[in-house]
Amino acid sequence: MARMLRQIDDEVLERPFNKGQFLRLLSYMKPYRKNVALALVLMIISSLCSLASTFLLSDAVDALENHASDLIYKYLVGMIIAAVIGAICVRYRVRLMDTAGRKALATLREDLFNHIQGLSFSFFDTRSAGKILVRVINDVNSLNDLFTNGIVNVLVDCLTLVILLIIMLAVNWQLTLVSMCIMPLLMLILFRLKRVMRKRWQRVRLKTSSMNGYLHESLSGMRVTEAFVREDENLETFENVNDDIRTTWMKAIQVNNAFWPALDLTGTIGTVLVYNVGIRMMKSAAKLPLSNLLLITWYLGRFWEPLNTLSNFYNNVLSAMASMERIFEIMDTPSDIQDKPDAIDLPPITGRVDFDNVTFSYDGEKTVLKDVSFTVQPGQTIALVGPTGAGKSTVVNLISRFYDVTGGAVLLDGHDVRDVKLRTLREQMSVMMQDSFIFSGTIMDNIRYGKLDATDEEVIQAAKTVHAHDFIMQMEKGYMTEVNERGSSLSVGQKQLISFARALLNDPKILILDEATSSIDTHTEILIQKALDELLKGRTSFVIAHRLSTIRNADCIMVVQDGHIAERGTHDELIKKEGGHYRALCDAQYRFLLEDA
Ligand code: ADP
Repeated sequence: MARMLRQIDDEVLERPFNKGQFLRLLSYMKPYRKNVALALVLMIISSLCSLASTFLLSDAVDALENHASDLIYKYLVGMIIAAVIGAICVRYRVRLMDTAGRKALATLREDLFNHIQGLSFSFFDTRSAGKILVRVINDVNSLNDLFTNGIVNVLVDCLTLVILLIIMLAVNWQLTLVSMCIMPLLMLILFRLKRVMRKRWQRVRLKTSSMNGYLHESLSGMRVTEAFVREDENLETFENVNDDIRTTWMKAIQVNNAFWPALDLTGTIGTVLVYNVGIRMMKSAAKLPLSNLLLITWYLGRFWEPLNTLSNFYNNVLSAMASMERIFEIMDTPSDIQDKPDAIDLPPITGRVDFDNVTFSYDGEKTVLKDVSFTVQPGQTIALVGPTGAGKSTVVNLISRFYDVTGGAVLLDGHDVRDVKLRTLREQMSVMMQDSFIFSGTIMDNIRYGKLDATDEEVIQAAKTVHAHDFIMQMEKGYMTEVNERGSSLSVGQKQLISFARALLNDPKILILDEATSSIDTHTEILIQKALDELLKGRTSFVIAHRLSTIRNADCIMVVQDGHIAERGTHDELIKKEGGHYRALCDAQYRFLLEDA
């Protein structure tokens, strides 16, 4: 239970409106102002068309009263024309905004990616790197709706409301004022009640997803549970969680059930009021025409719709605020590692890496790497092995310049990493952490993160190369299967294959891989081995190796010990060295390697 509550607190669902951030987000739409302007015009035309058809209908009633039957047909034809024009406008508006929204989001995503690439590890040290990346990418995706529909719709809705009101006032101002009596009630339902409803549903969703997480954990830890006879405890926790969800759901459904009847009732009250006063006015000396009375009630019936969209928009903006805050917080985090003023673009490299007497310390006191020198030829696979804390991660962090060396130099194709632009350096390398990140979205999108402008064919090709295609095709919707950040329905091995495909698509010259240690079933293990062979082909790779096959297949094994390279060579060479570090390491950790040798 405590765990569940904590998870809910973790999720910031909404933030108060922040004008600055909102405008900053809007600035991404600037290059597409023409699209937005055109979409706005189209929206105005379509909303005028729809208002006009109601107007024509009331004219038709007039004509009916006056027995002018040929006029009725004209009005009816007019209504059809208005409906057709309206539909065409809506169609083009959707297309225009969709394109503009998607492009604006792509720019935002790219800016964010570039910035994250430029951030040093000290930024990630304080947070969990995977979680940040996953959240941020999902945050960008969640802004989609706001961009593509929200903003234009809101402008048009406001305009529709104004036009509605003007026409109503022009037709009969007294009746309009009577009809407006229901406005406070309508606002209360659409803004207050709806917010309560929305919040309650959000709680249901969160609790359900926490339960799924809990179930997943308990199932995967089943054997441990059985061994420790914790079954009863687990069952009790499950029942508590389940009860909790049921109560939350009941609360949500209560408000939900109240919403539509309340809206209907308000509409009826409005209509009764207007008819009551209107019929009296029809009988009075002023003689209100029936068509005017009808028009007012019809237009009144249309009031709630734009108000409803406005309330949805308001809620969406508040949720989007939480996303925007996280996105801009990251974008505004300055990088510790800065480009030199005269930094050059790193030209396309072949992948040669030189460590030239590299010395490094994280804190200026404890030397982590001492005078390390080595050369790696393009295309070679280097397996870094050694005890925990020896400095393996530090070596790879210096290659991607997550930190700057304290002494000596790291050179890529002869260029000192400090002399080139960080973006052009990181563009040519992929760093794969132990965890394979899965983002909410389709499998197709998940792979595409390797290269944002990749075509579907390129994505599928990459998946085929790393042997992920088959299992993807076996899934319900193939590449279009939705997965979420917890990667549910994907096994650890499958997640890894997807992240391999992602890296392959990026086609880096230098690949850095911190091999996952988690155990994987034999079939997937074989697939991963094959995939890795493909992935490492033709690029310089540094693998912090945990798997025997990787170590054995490496062109060179570097044994890192106490901040220096204690030994290097192939498995066959090193294993023969009596009293050598590698042999001792194998003896301790990989005894079976020796047995096979
Ligand atoms: P390995 O990858 O071989 O386990 P690391 O390169 O991570 O070793 O660490 C080498 C040494 O540097 C360790 O003593 C570790 O405590 C220290 N170290 C690693 N990261 C940091 C950091 N961000 N700040 C300070 N010290 C660190």
